[in-house]
Amino acid sequence: MKEVTYSSTRGEGIKLSASMAVLKGLASDGGLFVPDHIPTLDKSLKELAEMDYQGLAYEVMKLFLTDYTEDELKKCIAAAYDSKFDTEEIAPLSESCGSYYLELFHGATIAFKDMALSLLPHLMTTAAKKNGLDKEIVILTATSGDTGKAALAGFADVPGTRIVVFYPKSGVSPIQEKQMVTQKGANTMVVGIHGNFDDAQTGVKKIFGDKEFAKELDEKGFVFSSANSINIGRLVPQVCYYVWAYTRLLKEERIKDGDQINVCVPTGNFGNILAAFYAKNMGLPIKKLICASNTNKVLFDFFESGTYDRNREFHVTSSPSMDILISSNLERLIYMIAGNDVKRCAELMGELSGNGKYSISDSEKKGLADFYGGYADEKETSEQIAKIYKTSGYVIDTHTAVASFVCDKYKAETRDDTPVVIASTASPYKFTRSVMNSIDPEYDKKTDFELIDDLCKISNVEIPQAIEDIRTAPVLHKTECDIDEMKTVIAGFLK
Ligand SMILES: *Cc1c(COP(=O)(O)O)cnc(C)c1O
Repeated sequence: MKEVTYSSTRGEGIKLSASMAVLKGLASDGGLFVPDHIPTLDKSLKELAEMDYQGLAYEVMKLFLTDYTEDELKKCIAAAYDSKFDTEEIAPLSESCGSYYLELFHGATIAFKDMALSLLPHLMTTAAKKNGLDKEIVILTATSGDTGKAALAGFADVPGTRIVVFYPKSGVSPIQEKQMVTQKGANTMVVGIHGNFDDAQTGVKKIFGDKEFAKELDEKGFVFSSANSINIGRLVPQVCYYVWAYTRLLKEERIKDGDQINVCVPTGNFGNILAAFYAKNMGLPIKKLICASNTNKVLFDFFESGTYDRNREFHVTSSPSMDILISSNLERLIYMIAGNDVKRCAELMGELSGNGKYSISDSEKKGLADFYGGYADEKETSEQIAKIYKTSGYVIDTHTAVASFVCDKYKAETRDDTPVVIASTASPYKFTRSVMNSIDPEYDKKTDFELIDDLCKISNVEIPQAIEDIRTAPVLHKTECDIDEMKTVIAGFLK
């Protein structure tokens, strides 16, 4: 098998093995680690269609994580995709109103972040062992709501690790917040910041770039890493479920071998849809990548105009995990469409941090041909939830609804009748109030837990364990801080 090495999007610098890139998280020049080439699937789609999720995940990930041995990788996969998921299929595909919903929310924290974050702690501790790292790994994470809990659940009580999560104090759903602040585990810390997700993410990136702080902590026996989707160990596991979705359609004879599909992804940090783009580049027959945004439609505007401009009002929406103006993983796409040119990529990212915007050239814009951008405002999102429920009885969450709306719009506009797989990124139980109010505004009079019981009645879907768990759980984390206090808070935790 051809080795894949990883280097920064912003500098020639060193080439790292996959396990070292997983350990480091973010390159020291502020860039993101990218593979030197995207490997090609080495099994046919027909062969892959006969495998279970774990087997297929191995076949995809072995191609990216080439310095992990077969035994190491298989052990990581077995530990990640087990009974924490409430379905053996791990990621079932459900047909509704002419589209296929790939349900990525059957893990411990009922959002798609579990697909990668169940695996990342195992990839990381294995990497530490392989590379003889004798430091305690401190995971720093900024969250728009779902990454935080999924990372906490993954890393809680994992020996040799600690985890600090920063979330926007007024920018997550009540259930998301309750899930995080009730997290157990002596190695965990959860902090509400007075700012939005971009503030949290920028703050964390700044701390990663702080060489003096890193040195100080190194002397105390700590090393930082990231559980955000900037970590290549988050991205690679996400490639698998697109291959999985395709092979389910093949196995159920909904498509023929080689037929194309479209994928539609509710997008924030651009991690999930980038994974689909990697899958396409591995040879998976994907035609269009439909990128769905909420009112924070910075990506839609980028696909329209070729200018990425974060200088705009920030909206708090009913799909908070997509309330993002700086989509970090877009940098990996920019790097590719600029012809793997690190200087050009660094130049554009410099403009983004300096003026808050950049424009790509006409020839670079050609590299975006596989993408279609769309967005749904609050009303459209809410109406889509009601429409899908009233037509089919299927209840989708607010994020999935954004994608579902954009998917319908794409179909109407283009008359493209290629089968579409919509990434269904969260359980409706995670955003119960917004979901139930969309179905009937009368529900707003009820309490959160009454709504949960009502949702169970109307959807015939069992209440997930993650929700049962927080009904009575005590709040264990009460720390809040300003944006400029994040470093102090970390230093305090690591005393
Ligand atoms: C994180 C998240 C998204 C956005 O995914 P990105 O990889 O950041 O684009 C969408 N929906 C839900 C429910 C999420 O948790």
